[in-house]
Amino acid sequence: MSPIRIALVGIGKIARDQHVPAIAGHDGLELVATCSRHASLDGVRSFKDFGEMLRDVPEIDAVSLCTPPTARQAFALEAFEAGKHVILEKPPAATLAELEPLVAKAKQANRTLFATWHSRFADGVRPAREWLADARIERVTVNWKEDVRHWHPGQDWIWEPGGLGVFDPGINALSIVTAILPRPIHLTKGELSFPANRATPIAASLRFADVTGVPVEAEFDWRQTGPQSWDIEVVADKGRLTLSNGGALLRVDGKTVLEGRDREYPGIYAHFTELAASNRSDVDLAPLTLVADAFMLGRRNTVEAFD
Ligand code: NAP
Repeated sequence: MSPIRIALVGIGKIARDQHVPAIAGHDGLELVATCSRHASLDGVRSFKDFGEMLRDVPEIDAVSLCTPPTARQAFALEAFEAGKHVILEKPPAATLAELEPLVAKAKQANRTLFATWHSRFADGVRPAREWLADARIERVTVNWKEDVRHWHPGQDWIWEPGGLGVFDPGINALSIVTAILPRPIHLTKGELSFPANRATPIAASLRFADVTGVPVEAEFDWRQTGPQSWDIEVVADKGRLTLSNGGALLRVDGKTVLEGRDREYPGIYAHFTELAASNRSDVDLAPLTLVADAFMLGRRNTVEAFD
């Protein structure tokens, strides 16, 4: 079978660090073009204009959108119009309402729309979900703290409306929580800390509950220097499950059950090829809905300016 020919759009940190090697490492995929206003990749046809790319490289089967979330919907609609599949980096859009037309358009075009959540492909996530399926859960605690200067140097867009601030990493935690817990959760209370000179929060303290009242506490903070904390702990009748290193390390009662490798993006592209084989879509809005609700229900605190 001939490979699916992919165009990468928005050549920045994640496109270079993860998408390029994941596509190169999959026999069923071929990178045939890039579209980015200021960047290109050696040896790949590069364009600054999306429409021109679609016209000049008609063999493109799929576009993978790695721009910030505010710059995706128009590209996705144009891609479906041209009969391409669409892969969206997380978070899939800047607003929930932007996604509905994309879902409808994918259906109408009979093409795949894949809203990726890379953290769900961390090795510990599936076994955690299976372990929790028959557990009586008592409480869940999430600590997602990192140094914004280390992980997002020079990325001004994350401080602008739609950039999500600390929810840009925090939504990864929520994508795992919503994948491993057996019941949906909803926000009950939130405090968001906005630097005096910025439009998005640098920290968030959130309380959720599921329909049976199980509490889920989440602390997101971008002011942690040194090693990051990407940890989720679930206390249940059958023991204490912890997912660390962003979902790669699974422990039960302190004993290591699984220490995974960094294979999130190969997992994303493997799933995409399965979806595209039958023009199916995979769009789960739960993590973005929880973040939108945090902006809706959360109390706003102003904290020290961030430079
Ligand atoms: P980035 O380094 O800033 O790269 C994004 C690229 O998109 C930019 O270099 C820019 O390239 C292009 N772009 C198009 N429209 C833009 C606009 N309006 N504002 C800014 N850039 C625009 O960002 P990134 O870290 O790769 O993140 C991109 C997406 O991937 C985000 O949704 C993020 O949440 C997700 N992600 C990032 C990471 C990570 O570790 N960085 C991990 C997982 C997921 P041109 O100027 O050349 O067009």
